[in-house]
Amino acid sequence: MPPLVESRLIPALASYDAIVPAGEPWVHEIRRGETLRIVDLEGNQAADTLFYNAHDLTDRYSAQDTIRAQANIYLTTGTRLLTSKGNALLTIVADTCGRHDTLGGACATESNMVRYGLEARHMHACRQSFVKAAIGWGHGFEKRDITHNINFFMNVPVTPEGGLTFADGVSAPGKYVELRAEMDVLAVISNCPQLNNPCNAYNPTPIRVLVWEPVR
Ligand SMILES: [Zn+2]
Repeated sequence: MPPLVESRLIPALASYDAIVPAGEPWVHEIRRGETLRIVDLEGNQAADTLFYNAHDLTDRYSAQDTIRAQANIYLTTGTRLLTSKGNALLTIVADTCGRHDTLGGACATESNMVRYGLEARHMHACRQSFVKAAIGWGHGFEKRDITHNINFFMNVPVTPEGGLTFADGVSAPGKYVELRAEMDVLAVISNCPQLNNPCNAYNPTPIRVLVWEPVR
């Protein structure tokens, strides 16, 4: 694991500070130069996150381009999140967790049913939260705009054979990740409601989101 990097930003000086309850969505615009922090308040929570160019929803986070550019499948301090058009969206500038997944995707009612049985069909899932947040935000955002996501605080180690494994989280209460916006960004988070796998220790918990204005 790479070294953990702490932030010097002070929560009391943040321009925005909110709690996202367990299982709820969140949407927010972050202006270029601002810093976003996501805090895993109780540990082992998965924050499924989408990022877009706030002025062009077709210019959106691309897991493929991000992985290829850094030649690593895990996201941590120093990772530049790239769009499908090759632009820098945000840079991870601090990370006290050390590893975030972008391979596992977001949970959906369909995948829940396949993995956990018919009775999981009506359980709330991240993709529904994304749609709810997107429609609430407006600006022409539609279901088709929902694409690659990042699973902050989620541990999906890849085996030497290339297998994906959902492992217990490496996160813990109070761990956070911090990102500086390189353009005006739309951020959509589903604070994962999953109850069937260890991505959030079978127990969804709240997260905290903070934004700081550009450091002058
Ligand atoms: Zn989920």
